[in-house]
Amino acid sequence: MNTKEYVEKVYNEVLKRNSGEDEFHQAVKEVLHSLIPVFEKHPEYVENGILERIVEPERQFIFRIPWVDDNGQVRVNRGFRVQFNNAIGPYKGGLRFHPTVNLSIIKFLGFEQILKNSLTGLPIGGGKGGSDFDPKDKSDREIMRFCQNFMTELYKYIGQDMDVPAGDIGVGGREIGYLFGQYKKLKSSYEAGVLTGKGLNYGGSLVRTEATGYGLVYFVDEMLKGKGISLQGKKVVVSGSGNVAIYAIEKLQELGAKVVACSDSNGYIYDENGINLDTVKRIKEVERKRIKEYVKYHKEAKYYEGCRSIWTIPCDIALPCATQNEINDEDAKGLIKNGVIAVGEGANMPSTLGAVDAFLKNGVLFAPAKAANAGGVAVSALEMSQNSIRYSWSFEEVDEKLKNIMKNIYDNSVKCAKEYGYEDNYVIGANIAGFLKVADAMMMQGIV
Ligand code: GLU
Repeated sequence: MNTKEYVEKVYNEVLKRNSGEDEFHQAVKEVLHSLIPVFEKHPEYVENGILERIVEPERQFIFRIPWVDDNGQVRVNRGFRVQFNNAIGPYKGGLRFHPTVNLSIIKFLGFEQILKNSLTGLPIGGGKGGSDFDPKDKSDREIMRFCQNFMTELYKYIGQDMDVPAGDIGVGGREIGYLFGQYKKLKSSYEAGVLTGKGLNYGGSLVRTEATGYGLVYFVDEMLKGKGISLQGKKVVVSGSGNVAIYAIEKLQELGAKVVACSDSNGYIYDENGINLDTVKRIKEVERKRIKEYVKYHKEAKYYEGCRSIWTIPCDIALPCATQNEINDEDAKGLIKNGVIAVGEGANMPSTLGAVDAFLKNGVLFAPAKAANAGGVAVSALEMSQNSIRYSWSFEEVDEKLKNIMKNIYDNSVKCAKEYGYEDNYVIGANIAGFLKVADAMMMQGIV
C-alpha cells in the first residue's frame, strides 16, 4: 500500500467509526491530506500508528445538565468534553455554548485544537467542550445557574494539570467567572489554573480578551509583509461581532486598515466610513444586543438581514470571525472575483474545503485558522504560566510575547510548507508544523 492509500484507509475508518459527524470528517480530511508528504518521509510514524491514534479522542464525556429557568421551569441540556490528545501538555481548549453544539462540532474543534496548540510552541494538549445551551435571551441569573450546573458535572474531569477549559462562542468572561466560582466551591481549594479567560482580579491575564483578534491581525500582517504588502489603507470585511471580531477590528484600525462591515447571526452592517468600534463594543459587550442597533447611532450605515451576502462586499482582505463553514465555495468565488488579496480565519474552520481550495488556486494569501487564531489559546497558556508562578505580567509583556508567538507560527508554517514542496501553502505548512511536534512526543512516550 502506498502512502496515499494508507491515508485514505485511515480516513475511511474515521468516516465509518464516526458516522454522521460531518464537521469532524471535514477537519480530519484536510489535515490527513496535508500529511501525505510527512508519512512518505517518516515511515516510523506509520509503523507506530500515530495517525490512527491522533484521530481517536483519548476520552470523551457526554452528560446531562438540568437547570431551572426564571419561570421555575425545568430545562435539560447536553454537555460535552472531549479530551483529544495530551502528548505535549494537559488537554486545553474552550467551551462553546450554542444551540448547534453536538459531538461532531466538539470533535472537529478538539481535533483542530491539538495542532493549533502545538503550533503555539507552548506545552498544551488538545481538547474541547460545550453545550447545546442557547445563551441568547437568557437572564444573567439563568446563565449563572446553567454554568453552575454544567460545572457540577464537568469538575470531575478537569484540573490544572489535567484539562484546562476556557471560552469559545457563547462563553466569555462572565461565564468563566460563574464556572470558576462553582469549581472552587466544589473543590474547596483555589486552583486558578483550572480555567483560563478569568477576570483580571482573580487570576486572569492581561491581553487574554484581545488575544485571538490581535493575534489574527499580527499573523495576517506578517503574511502580507512577506509579500511586501502593507495593511495601511486596506479595505477589510470582518464577519462576527464577538470577542474575536471586535479585537481584530481594533488592531486593524490601529494599523491603518479600514473595516467596513461586521455581523452577528441575524445580519450585518455596512459602514462606508469605517466601522465605529466604540458603538459595536457598547452594543455587544455592554448592552448584549443585536448588531442592527448600530444603524440607530450611525445614519450613514446600512443593516442587511442575513449573513451570507457579507462576502459580496468588495474588499482587499476578508477575516471570517463568526463560525464554521461561513464561507462556502460560492462565497469564495465571489470574493476572488471582487479581487480579495488575503483571507485570515479568525473563527475555527470558517471556510469549506472547496473555498480553501479556490483561494489557494487563485493565489489568494490564505491564513488558516489553526495558525491564524492561535493567539487566544497561546495567551491562555501564558495565563496558566502566570497562575503557576503566582505573578502577573504587564500588558506590554504579554502583548510582546503574543506578537513573537504569532511570528513564530507564521515562520514555522512558511518553513514547513517550503520544506515539503508546497511553498506559500500555509494550510499544509501549519498542519505539518503542528503535527510534527505532537507526533514526535507520541513516539517518545510509547504506545499509550
Ligand atoms: N476557544 C479558543 C480557541 O478556539 C481558545 C481556547 C483556549 O483559550 O483554551 O482556540
